[in-house]
Amino acid sequence: MDAALQKQLIEAVANTVIAHAEELTTLDQAIGDGDHGLNMKRGFEAVLSDIDGLSAKPLPDALKAIGTQLVMKVGGASGPLYGTFFMTLGKTLPPDPTAEDVARAFELALEATRARGKSEAGQKTLLDVLTPVLDELRQGDGNSGADLPARLKARALAAAETTVPMKAVRGRASFLGDRSIGHMDPGARSSSLMIAAACDVLEG
Ligand code: ADP
Ligand code: MG
Repeated sequence: MDAALQKQLIEAVANTVIAHAEELTTLDQAIGDGDHGLNMKRGFEAVLSDIDGLSAKPLPDALKAIGTQLVMKVGGASGPLYGTFFMTLGKTLPPDPTAEDVARAFELALEATRARGKSEAGQKTLLDVLTPVLDELRQGDGNSGADLPARLKARALAAAETTVPMKAVRGRASFLGDRSIGHMDPGARSSSLMIAAACDVLEG
């Protein structure tokens, strides 16, 4: 992947997280401890502080470095989970991935994240966005050609909405039991924002 596109992707993902920090915090105030926005903002500010270094690295190395930063800087439950996701993507993606490589790496990253969280889709977490996005990725470019980014983005944003009626069974929100119902999961929202931002760049 060329360094300019890689830079655009990293900046877009980081900037969207930072721009939505307050929204993520509000979501986490409803069913958690209200730190998700700040946690994520801190992590992606650290990523942006080394944007030139990260853009110059081969894509797999950049992803591993981002994962390491997220583990170190985000904290909470989501830091190790997102860190695992990005590090596994970095370990499994080739430097110039095809759509199929991306689907395979995404699948392995999702598996590693599930193992780390001892969780699965349907429990009102970020997995409820990443899992349907993998589904969409597996369907590939298909007949519909270049509209894959648009479909991934729509799927991710809609998937975050599906967490509203779910009852949390993992993470801090699970302490609320039935009272977690009726709120969007903060991690699902942050995942959907990151995927949407990356897709906007790929579409453009
Ligand atoms: P904390 O819950 O420690 O305060 P954050 O607020 O940063 O951490 O992140 C909360 C988000 O992390 C949740 O909204 C959920 O999406 C995700 N999460 C928490 N625990 C798990 C888990 N075991 N598996 C998957 N995702 C989880
Ligand atoms: Mg929290």
